[in-house]
Amino acid sequence: MEALKNYIDNTWTASANLSTVKVLNPATQELLAEVPIGSASARDMDQAIKSGHQAHLEWKKVPVMRRVQPLFKLKRLMDENLEDLAQTITLESGKTMEESKGELMRAIENIETACGTPMLMQSEFSEDIASGVDEFMIRQALGVTACIAPFNFPAMITFWFLPYAIACGNAMVVKPSEKVPLTMIKIFHLIDQLDLPKGLVNMVHGGKVAVDALLEHSLVKAISFVGSTDVAKYIYAKGAQYGKRVQAQGGAKNPVVILPDADIEMTSKIVSDSVYGCAGQRCLAASVILSVGDQKNGIREALYESAKSKHIGFGLDSGVDMGPVITPDSKSRINRLINLGVEEGANLLLDGRTPKVSGYDKGNFIAPTILENLALDGKVIETEIFGPVMSLLHMNTVDDAISFINKSKYGNSACLFTSSGASARKFRNEVMAGNIGINIGVAAPMAQFPFSGWKDSFFGDLHGQGRHAIEFFTQTKVVIERWPKDWSRKF
Ligand code: NAD
Repeated sequence: MEALKNYIDNTWTASANLSTVKVLNPATQELLAEVPIGSASARDMDQAIKSGHQAHLEWKKVPVMRRVQPLFKLKRLMDENLEDLAQTITLESGKTMEESKGELMRAIENIETACGTPMLMQSEFSEDIASGVDEFMIRQALGVTACIAPFNFPAMITFWFLPYAIACGNAMVVKPSEKVPLTMIKIFHLIDQLDLPKGLVNMVHGGKVAVDALLEHSLVKAISFVGSTDVAKYIYAKGAQYGKRVQAQGGAKNPVVILPDADIEMTSKIVSDSVYGCAGQRCLAASVILSVGDQKNGIREALYESAKSKHIGFGLDSGVDMGPVITPDSKSRINRLINLGVEEGANLLLDGRTPKVSGYDKGNFIAPTILENLALDGKVIETEIFGPVMSLLHMNTVDDAISFINKSKYGNSACLFTSSGASARKFRNEVMAGNIGINIGVAAPMAQFPFSGWKDSFFGDLHGQGRHAIEFFTQTKVVIERWPKDWSRKF
């Protein structure tokens, strides 16, 4: 099978790498593609970065109103190709078609928001700060920027950054996850139809060597990274060492608190969709469920029934609620963590370790699992599982739950289910996490809001999406001007 090509200078270009890794359908292990990877990635990157640099020098001079026009076309092309793109996401990532379409809608919303860049980039102006002196601030492009994406959203995550970066006058190099490169290739076939300047948007495949080449290249000015916490920390530190602007989103372990006054039926359904949606491979997936107070309300049983009712299978088949996890390695890692949770004293209320999925014997399936009463001083309680595993804990008070949450090293999101406004207010004020949901299972911010994240879930200052993205992808210049009416007057 021929290795996938990079997209450099608006041309599909063979990688300098001779070695490849396989992309397999996670439900069947069918070989989908071979991705170039290895020590020659630095050469590929250098070509893409230099091409981006040339393109940006002209593009930054194009009026912003014209720079957003290709985004309107991209939105239309993404809408028209939604079904085909969703199928590719499902094939390579294992999501259900509904999840794949949902991801694409989120990507498109970011394109739509970035179409407002002419407004978002508007400058600030102060007249007569002293007699005859005006002062104003303008925003200018940075140069070549880069996006390094994880496997779990093959389309969406790049769009937290890409549309804003180019609308602000920058070039961008995209490095998709080597586990799911095919969706971005399809999207680049659409980008190819936009008549963008040659080299403005490039895509280079690869792994660590490709990422290091981006981090070390002097023409790269800003890095947007999304992935696991250890790699995010590395990117942040190394990016800073090489003088770059960095936003690095990391891992998570998202808690959901259920108070005794929550509506049990609605809550159990929403919470189990949050835990098991995308097979638990979402950075905002509910992971630790803290049921507070009286357990006689039936929440334990409702969560169990809801989890048990999920129909697992291949996402292209109808009636499937949950697909496989991404790789056999991932499946083994998750099962090891379930085993460790039991060794640490948890009750395995629902065991999904070895499901039978008819027709898909080779798939990386794990069925919904519930670990109840995990040891609070164990390893599993603080480890991101990134699979369809709910950790169910019982707490006496909402203060106990908040104190538990605030001890976590992560701070991506936290959700509360209640019918009390006062409890909701206390929760949103006191909880140390960047995205808060009240009676919401997945607290994913819409495109006009920053995708916040605190503690070890984010390294940097400005987040992806909305106004933060505009600030991240521009540098400010402050101008003070004096235009005295009478030049003979002494300054
Ligand atoms: P990952 O960290 O393994 O990989 C992410 C990217 O970094 C990939 O493009 C990969 O090629 C590259 N990479 C991997 N190891 C590297 C290294 N040592 N040096 C340089 N680059 C490296 O993450 P993943 O497994 O693809 O994605 C899952 C993780 O992403 C989870 O931890 C999840 O929580 C996190 N995530 C976070 C968010 C968020 O918004 N905070 C969103 C989605 C996913």
